[in-house]
Amino acid sequence: MENGKKAIVMSGIRSTGFLHLGNYFGAIRNYVRMQEEYTCYFMVADIHSLTTHPDTKELKPNVHRVLAENIACGLDPEKVALYCQSHVYETAELYMLLNMLAYKGELEKTTTFKDKVRQHPENVNAGLLTYPVLQAADILLHRASLVPVGKDQEQHLEMSRNFANRFNHRYGNVFPEPYAFNFGEELIKVPSLDGTGKMSKSENQYATIFLSDSDELIRKKIMKAKTDAGPSAPNMPKPDYIENIFLLMKLVSAPDTILKFEEDYNKAAIRYGDLKKQLAEDMVAFVTPIREKAESIRTDEAYLRRIMEMGAEKARISAAATMEKVREAIGLKYY
Ligand code: ADP
Repeated sequence: MENGKKAIVMSGIRSTGFLHLGNYFGAIRNYVRMQEEYTCYFMVADIHSLTTHPDTKELKPNVHRVLAENIACGLDPEKVALYCQSHVYETAELYMLLNMLAYKGELEKTTTFKDKVRQHPENVNAGLLTYPVLQAADILLHRASLVPVGKDQEQHLEMSRNFANRFNHRYGNVFPEPYAFNFGEELIKVPSLDGTGKMSKSENQYATIFLSDSDELIRKKIMKAKTDAGPSAPNMPKPDYIENIFLLMKLVSAPDTILKFEEDYNKAAIRYGDLKKQLAEDMVAFVTPIREKAESIRTDEAYLRRIMEMGAEKARISAAATMEKVREAIGLKYY
């Protein structure tokens, strides 16, 4: 905290589809927890979504959905700046300037870049390569120091810190170092239901639980999660796919429920059918109120427009102040 002012928080979610449990537990839950205590900027990363989703037919409904689902999870657009990345033009300016401080080699080595190249070999665009630079621009534009994100974003945050430090070294001290934030705990990774990788908007649709899934679909997805014949002896280590089911249970079930199944597992007396049924019911109870609330917000276009305008206005004030400092530090002032 500087000069007794509140610390600045920034984070974003791409508008590439439906939000899921990973987005909730990795990011949105912390947005909601942080909104009371900090100055918060939360953004729909619509420009970032163009790196992998060049077809823009679904862009508008996707942007509306991300906004509605964030609000349904408890984010208050009056307390935070909730805005669209494309509405704050200063982002593009800072991104361009930071590109001079980012090296091709480090960008090519980024794990998410390498993954995306594997997934979309036909569309390896420069935007994909410079994704971490645009992300750094989003964060540094508000001179944010805390970035609530899931574990998959750890490397990107390290890159944001590097770009901030290089800028400060070369031109003078403008940016604080931004850090991934989860209230002092390990960053979260919500695993996918098929036991491989993480829940995600664009991959593993059937192994991901979306905040918009019907009760029936949630039950179906969970009942299909991979299990086996059960432990053959007491106190055996859990295979990954079973560990994942317990991990999901820890997110939505009551502590005594989890304890009971842990004990059953350690006694080698667990029934995976019962475990999944219980998880399915607890998951349904968790998702249903969010889904219902989001649905009514999503269809209220006039309200969403007001939210976006209000958010962009707040974000632009902070962005303009930072860009003044940036231009001055670099020396882009000739009179
Ligand atoms: P996605 O990977 O689903 O497209 P984004 O890249 O838009 O999601 O990420 C939005 C936020 O959600 C980020 O903070 C990211 O760390 C978090 N997130 C995404 N998937 C997961 C997951 N499976 N577990 C934890 N956090 C996640």
